[in-house]
Amino acid sequence: MIFDLHSHTTLSDGSLHPVDLVSLALEKNVNVLAITDHDTVDAYSHLPNGGAGIELIAGIEFSTQWQNTGIHVLGLNIDLKSDAITAGVTFQTDARLQRAREIGENLEKRGIENAFEGALELANGRYIGRPHFARHVINIGKAKNMQAAFKNYLGDGKPGDVRQHWADLSQIIDWIRDANGIPVLAHPLKYKLTRTKLKRLLANFIELGGQGMEVISGQQTPQQTSGMAQLCVELDLLASCGSDFHMPGKRWAELGSFSRLPGKVTPVWEQF
Ligand code: AMP
Ligand code: MN
Ligand code: MN
Ligand code: MN
Repeated sequence: MIFDLHSHTTLSDGSLHPVDLVSLALEKNVNVLAITDHDTVDAYSHLPNGGAGIELIAGIEFSTQWQNTGIHVLGLNIDLKSDAITAGVTFQTDARLQRAREIGENLEKRGIENAFEGALELANGRYIGRPHFARHVINIGKAKNMQAAFKNYLGDGKPGDVRQHWADLSQIIDWIRDANGIPVLAHPLKYKLTRTKLKRLLANFIELGGQGMEVISGQQTPQQTSGMAQLCVELDLLASCGSDFHMPGKRWAELGSFSRLPGKVTPVWEQF
């Protein structure tokens, strides 16, 4: 069985419509798929037959920060129609728009003209994120590709890295739990924290009601996997795995394309 519990669609910053994502997942022999768009669950209303042929786990990827580090928390197996998810999505959608205005102002100061308007035009109406700003920066010739745009303007510590608008970690965990979902820390290796600091983040996450971590996020080395599995067991967390698929290409893993969870962890799906 292949469980891919982290993926994106055109309703956030992915390149595939939900229907096409499900088709691709079937093609890649994924058995269980969670669509986890950034701060939105709109994808699920674009699947007329509920994703026939595949088992869909309702999910979301919330943005927040912890001690000045931008982090992402997955809500898996959530009740999409719950008041908590509605409240969470409404809050974060508004936060995204406010944040986009601030990113726009910051980029203008760095010589990026019409940053907010340009990004808004590239966005799909509800969701606006740093990838739209990055594309605008490229369009006006100030960066040659996404990687350069993030490196110079939008990545960690750059003017476009604005995080203070997001709901805090405890609020996000509460929304997920109130929606009967499981809060899972997404891609722990991406935050570039020391092991000590990552342990502190996870301890805090657990204290606030967090229940799982991604032991596998896309392609990683066996050493990385065993390190994450070790932490997961030590902290008695549930283990998750996913591609974090956004679009075909170098930067992201393909759907369903990552190694299996090590035997010593408890898979999060035991709780579904
Ligand atoms: P946001 O949700 O607005 O904070 O945007 C973050 C998203 O930008 C991530 O989920 C990635 O999809 C994308 N991203 C982050 N860093 C890069 C990068 N270096 N190149 C391309 N996309 C990136
Ligand atoms: Mn993304
Ligand atoms: Mn993420
Ligand atoms: Mn993601």
